[in-house]
Formats: sequence, C-alpha cells, structure tokens
Amino acid sequence: MTSINNIKVLISEEKIQARVKELGQEITKKYEGKELTLICVLKGSFLFYADLVRAIRLPVRCEFISVSSYGAEKTSSGEVKLALDISTPLDGRDLMIIEDIVDTGLTLKYIRELLSVRNPASIACCALLEKPEARKVEVPVEYRGFTIGNEFVVGYGLDYDQRYRELPFIGLCE
Ligand code: 5GP
Repeated sequence: MTSINNIKVLISEEKIQARVKELGQEITKKYEGKELTLICVLKGSFLFYADLVRAIRLPVRCEFISVSSYGAEKTSSGEVKLALDISTPLDGRDLMIIEDIVDTGLTLKYIRELLSVRNPASIACCALLEKPEARKVEVPVEYRGFTIGNEFVVGYGLDYDQRYRELPFIGLCE
C-alpha cells in the first residue's frame, strides 16, 4: 500500500475519478429531461460534490447544508446538529443529497427527514462511501461510490480534526 504523510492510500485518485464519472452517467440517465437540485452536505462532501456536479449532464441547482456529529473524535457522537440550512423553497423539486460517507446512517436519516417535509417531488442520496458494518439505522442510499470496512478514513474532503481534506485520494490514518 502506498503511504503519503503517514496516510495509507485506500482508494486512489484515479479510482475515485473513474467512479465519479460512472455515477454522473448513471444519474444523468436516470433523471433525463429533469432538473436536479444537488444538495452538498458540508464540509466533507465538498470535493466529491464539485466533481460530481461536473459529471452530471443535466440542468442542476446547487444547494448547501451543514450538519455536525463528530467534532474532533473518530467516532460519531450520535447527536446530529444542523449548522446551515437551505433557505430556498424545495416544493416540487427533485432532490439529491450528496454525502461523503454513510457510517451509522444517523446524519443521512436526519437530513432526509428534514427535507422530506418540504414537499419535494423526490429525494435520493448519492454517497461516495458507505460502511455497512457501522450502520445503526435503516436509511436508503440510492447511489454509492465504494463500500468500505469499519475503519476511519480521511482525504478527498474528509477530515480528522479538520486536517487532510485536501488529499486527492481516500486514505487511512496510521
Ligand atoms: P453517520 O451519521 O452516518 O454516522 O456519519 C456521517 C458523517 O460522519 C459523515 O458525513 C462524515 O462527516 C463523518 N464520518 C463518518 N465516518 C467517517 C470516517 O471514516 N472518516 C471521516 N473523516 N468522517 C467520517
């Protein structure tokens, strides 16, 4: 395994970029003829979001939401807090929540419930990563990039205590 700054590469930049293109094509086909509202879940999703937006060949609207559950820990506190909400009305819109990683599923469940009461036409989620072993609640993930084990990852937007977000790959802290 390659290692950069004590971070072992788990998923390379090339693999991520190829998968993002595939996801973009899949979503473009599924929503053909429609306008999609893509919701970036800050901060962890910002790089994935920026790449995916450009891989989707549809008219899109960009919205941003911020929630927190981790702080400086490597495990979820279990309590989800809303830090930034979407102020635009979402009635009749096709929404796609763009998540960096679905771990316990608590964050995604919270966001889906928050948005579903705003009368959208549809809601789906596209997550770059999913940790099925860590799941605590049932919540649908319609599109996913990669499935990983129950390990803490950083890079490509994901942090450990606000570090490593800039790495172009997904890595494991040593
Ligand atoms: P969940 O609510 O599903 O437990 O956690 C979702 C959020 O926790 C993600 O959006 C992400 O910000 C953070 N998270 C979960 N697993 C990891 C991980 O392995 N690494 C990092 N950096 N953040 C994670």
